[in-house]
Amino acid sequence: MGAEHTVVEPAVRTVHFISTGFGEQHHEHRYGTSKPLLWWVLTGRSWVTVPIGVYVIHHRDGIVLFDTGMDPAIAEPGYISSPIGRFLLPRIFRLHIGPDDTLGRRLEAIDVPADRVEKAIISHLHFDHVGGIADIPQAELLVSRDEWQQLSEPHPEREWVLREHIEVPGAKWRQIDFATTKDPLLSDFSGCHDVMGDESLVLLPTPGHTPGSMSLLLRSASLPPILFVGDLTYELDLLLKDQVPAIGDKEQLRASFAKVRALKQRLPDLIVLPSHDPEAASILTECLAARA
Ligand SMILES: [Zn+2]
Repeated sequence: MGAEHTVVEPAVRTVHFISTGFGEQHHEHRYGTSKPLLWWVLTGRSWVTVPIGVYVIHHRDGIVLFDTGMDPAIAEPGYISSPIGRFLLPRIFRLHIGPDDTLGRRLEAIDVPADRVEKAIISHLHFDHVGGIADIPQAELLVSRDEWQQLSEPHPEREWVLREHIEVPGAKWRQIDFATTKDPLLSDFSGCHDVMGDESLVLLPTPGHTPGSMSLLLRSASLPPILFVGDLTYELDLLLKDQVPAIGDKEQLRASFAKVRALKQRLPDLIVLPSHDPEAASILTECLAARA
């Protein structure tokens, strides 16, 4: 008679990266510049091709997304209601979004039916992160209270927060408040929110790109720790070098960068995954293969 073994299923089995089309952003936008926004938007000639990423987290209690990507309807003339927004968008972001680049189709391609998504964490409310919410009407949409607050301010569309594509009928938005934590690992952050109640997916406030941007720390026995940072940085190296992008509150960005660097010191094998990193898919594949 052998000893009985209880096989405990890891909290998270695997993570996929999908992209709802591609965009090109200005070099100045990605790597930062001291030039004013309108100067580089109108005169910049160097572009970087980036994915419009969504992370698909296979948790034992259901599928959780980190961001939802872009809606292909952005190509339609009325998608952005403000004329200035319509003028600026192609000058800030050159989009390459096909009709199949919906969240639903991209999920289908990795055998995840959209109606199985339990929750979607919205790192921030920019249009290229909320574009798939109509494909997952059953899912709870988690957003930070500070981020949601932007909708109460005049003209949120000037900050690329398009109210008519966020406050869609039936969308199950839930605002997150961060609670103080005694976890010494997270002591630099002003609070945290445990998404699944098992500490495997923990939201952390990382403002700077927008006032209420948040990141997600994944900890599961089966995987290295992963921090999904949304648009806090566009690639880890920039965060390590304290090189802030051209969009966002520089002081807040630097404060959030420092917290993420401190977390990485405490968790040396931490993988940091931005939403617009062309290397994200290969970094993820490599780290999953190493643990397999
Ligand atoms: Zn953004």
